Amino acid sequence: MKRIAIIGAGASGLFLAKKWSGREGGEVYVFERSRQVGTKLRASGGGKCNLFNTSVLSACYNHPEFASKLLEKVSPQRLWHEFEEMGLQMVADEEGRVYPLSQFSQTVVDVLSANLEENIHFEMGYEVRKVFSQDGLWRINDYPVPFDNVVFASGTPANMIPRNRKDYNDYLKDFNITVNEFQPSLVGFVIKDYPKKLSGCRVKVIASLYQGEKLIHSEPGEVTFKDDGISGIVILNLSAYYNRLKDKSGCFVELNFLYANPDYDVQAHLRKYHSLRGLLHPKLNALYEREPFDVKKFKMEIEGLYDLAFAQVCHGGIALDEVDDRFALKKYPGIYVTGEMLDLDGICGGYNLFFAFASALLVAEG
Ligand SMILES: Cc1cc2nc3c(=O)[nH]c(=O)nc-3n(C[C@H](O)[C@H](O)[C@H](O)COP(=O)(O)OP(=O)(O)OC[C@H]3O[C@@H](n4cnc5c(N)ncnc54)[C@H](O)[C@@H]3O)c2cc1C
Repeated sequence: MKRIAIIGAGASGLFLAKKWSGREGGEVYVFERSRQVGTKLRASGGGKCNLFNTSVLSACYNHPEFASKLLEKVSPQRLWHEFEEMGLQMVADEEGRVYPLSQFSQTVVDVLSANLEENIHFEMGYEVRKVFSQDGLWRINDYPVPFDNVVFASGTPANMIPRNRKDYNDYLKDFNITVNEFQPSLVGFVIKDYPKKLSGCRVKVIASLYQGEKLIHSEPGEVTFKDDGISGIVILNLSAYYNRLKDKSGCFVELNFLYANPDYDVQAHLRKYHSLRGLLHPKLNALYEREPFDVKKFKMEIEGLYDLAFAQVCHGGIALDEVDDRFALKKYPGIYVTGEMLDLDGICGGYNLFFAFASALLVAEG
């Protein structure tokens, strides 16, 4: 009889438990720090849970080559089938984002955590602080049962309460592996000399990230002006590309407020109407009247990112060359890693949950 420990009952930990439920010859113990399972799953996709995307592109991850190899093994279609087999009905929107048909994230948590067989045991409110080997088996804290295998599925400190816990994943310290520092990703930008009068304004734009003259990434979407910076899905995506830059100097966001008609002749409009009030959001127009700016190239210099507590995911984590293609730690046989703890992060649209589930699927099969 094999005993397996899963550290964390989040997206990847729950998926694993579901896959191993009822499997003969294995007892599975899931250790979860908090009192509930699937906390981030519930929060995902604004409470609707964007499970994955029907066309996951490897280029949308920080390590495209690694993602591309993963996609050869687990396609979105395969994941769809896996969830369908679990009894989850899904629907994809026009941009390929897959949601539960119920449009409610709790449905996903329920499907993954309900009706598990007797070989799955949960230890709730149990924080793992130490993992060590003894007599050829793995031990967790002072838990009385030893384990043949351990799966690290404890995620990252992104969006955590209490905020910015410095001791997150502290149990990794006893392992001789490279863990790249966690940085907030899919998060807003704090802007230098921010025009506070725009605070509260929400507009559609084409947003572009530049470093000096170089265009790093551009896409259309809705931007929200906060008290000292900007947010919104399009900005979160830019933050993922910003994080990939080693040197972040000279970065700025350029907003084109004429998203629907970038060729519109603003000068002709001004000559005819003597104002941009018919063209811009009132707050932008008020700013323009005080201090005219290029409405197709509104530059905002990046001071930095909002902190981890506001981030959807973390950039950084266990270096990808520490694991083999089945997500086992090369230096520590018997230990596996899934999900966000690994240094792979993607853009919004289901990319991060896709990775959590796909990595768990491969571990489950291994
Ligand atoms: C607000 C928000 C919205 C999001 N929306 C989406 C979306 O729509 N689509 C998408 O693809 N991604 C989304 N994400 C990202 C996605 O939720 C995560 O990438 C995913 O949940 C990671 O799964 P995981 O299994 O690696 O970790 P998690 O789901 O974070 O699970 C880790 C679990 O481990 C537990 N844990 C931590 N430390 C310990 C310990 N020492 N001992 C025991 N237990 C421990 C934690 O309490 C947690 O339950 C969103 C994230 C946030 C915060």
